[in-house]
This record gives sequence, structure tokens and C-alpha cells, in this order.
Amino acid sequence: MSRSAIVISMLVPFAVACQAVSPEDAGDTLEKQLHADLKGSAQERDKGDFVVAVPQSVDDGAATTDLNREWERFTRKEGHLERTVKLLNEEFALPRDLSVAYLECGEANAFFDPANDQVGLCYEMLQEIAEVVSARITSESSAADIKAAEKAALGISDAILMHEIGHALISERFWDVPVLGEEEDVVDDFSTLVLIELDRPDAAEATARFWATTDPMSPDWEAYAGVHSLNPQRYANIMCLVYGSNPKKYGHLTNPYKPDHTVKQTFEAVGRDCTGESDYRDGEFDQKITAFYRLIGPWVLPDDPTSTSQPDAI
Ligand SMILES: [Zn+2]
Repeated sequence: MSRSAIVISMLVPFAVACQAVSPEDAGDTLEKQLHADLKGSAQERDKGDFVVAVPQSVDDGAATTDLNREWERFTRKEGHLERTVKLLNEEFALPRDLSVAYLECGEANAFFDPANDQVGLCYEMLQEIAEVVSARITSESSAADIKAAEKAALGISDAILMHEIGHALISERFWDVPVLGEEEDVVDDFSTLVLIELDRPDAAEATARFWATTDPMSPDWEAYAGVHSLNPQRYANIMCLVYGSNPKKYGHLTNPYKPDHTVKQTFEAVGRDCTGESDYRDGEFDQKITAFYRLIGPWVLPDDPTSTSQPDAI
């Protein structure tokens, strides 16, 4: 997401480095910089927490409309964000606090605000997610269908929030992770890999379907030039990672003879079948999960045997 005007100026440090050293030395210098602050254990680097922020005023994003007040009540009563944050604190070390909030924004969006070390998911975005998911519910839907839709909506909100957390964590405010590729794709991958690693591929899968059902298939030139991949591409990228994490378990996602015709049609439409005849994306999950741990390994906390959090809480 992050279509708002927030700019994460990650190019500045590189521009300074390039003026100061020759191209041959730049790689060595960067390598030294990357490791300079990473001495010691993840616990020693863990100086901050993910912290739930509850907006107290209109300026902070407190709800001003009846609908948003409904979301405010729902999210506070439900406690989902608190459980998510607890799990993240058990998994990751932070150099400073990162506040995480549901709030009113005036548009369906989510964001990372580096000036305030905050990520936010807007009530309006929760409403949009709910509308997309509830469109699948009909008078014929069973109680199980409705429960599945609710679970999907929560999973999508988790994944979008994780995408914004990805923006925050890779920035110089937190982990300062090198980015090779489009940042929006990188943090989609971050979100998906975290959800897979936390045993929540269902949340990633629900998010992929969300993108597949919310984007026109004939984008204009402006969309091609945007920072985000087109939603069908985001769909395929997420789905291919989920599939690649366990091809046996998720083989049905790409099988045209199984009930999931919409999925197959979307894969064909974007020309990126994860299992296609050319095996184009074979090995992609292994490649990305390896990069994930190489880059953020120093910030991953060891397992706490006394933890009572359940992976499905996120
Ligand atoms: Zn984004």
C-alpha cells in the first residue's frame, strides 16, 4: 500500500557513499557498514518494542464518523492487534519502539510514517477489506463460509499491516536492510514470508485473492509506471511464494482441474504460472527465504521456550 505522500528516502545514504569512495571501494565500505552495527546477539540489539498505539484525539486518528467509530470499537474489543504485536515482539529485535495503530485516515490506506516511527492501518481500509470479503457471502452461505470470510478479512488486514511493518523495518530507522529491487515488491515478499514462517500462509493466500479481486485487468500507462506492481502481479507473487513454501500442500492453487478456476485464470492472465511449463519460478521460495534470513537474521530472536503465544494469533 502506502500510496500516501510519505517518502522513504533510502537513496540519500547511497548518494553520499558514492561521492566519498571509488566504485571499487563502495562495495567493501557498504559491507563494513552493514556489519558494523551488528555485533553481539539479537537480544543485545533489542532496545525497542512493537507498541500498540490507540488514537486519543482526532489529530492522532481517532474516529470521527459512525462507521469508523464502529471499527474503533471492534478493533479495541477484539484485541487482535495486541496479539499480533506480542508475537512480533517475541520474534524480532528492534533498535527503538515502532508504534502500530488502527486509525481513521480519510481514505482506504495503510502507511509507514518514519517521522513518528509509526505504521498504521486505516479504518477505511478495514472497511474496504470487509466489503470485498463479504461480497462472497450470500444467503446460501453456511456458518462455516461466514467464519472463513471473517478469518480471511483478519488475515488480509494482518498481511497489509505486515507490508507496512516491512517498510518500517527495512528503513534506516530500524534494520537498514539493503533493497535490491522495487521496495513495494520487497515488502510484499517480507509480509508473505513472515506470515508463512509464522504458519499463517492462509493469511497470505487470502491477501493474494484480495488483490486478484480488486484490480482491473487493463491498467493504463500511469499504473505501469507506479511503484506498486499491478494487483494481479501482487496476487501472483504472493501466491507463488505460498505455493513454493510447500508445493505438495498448495499444489491445488495452480491446478486448473481443481475447483479454483479463478486462481488459474488469473495466473494465465498475468502470464506467471508458478509451476508453468517452463518452471520459470522454480526455486523462488528457497531463494527468497534464504535472502530473508541472511538479511534479517541478526534481528531474529531465539525461541522463547516459556512463550504462550500461538502462531495463529497473528
Ligand atoms: Zn507499500
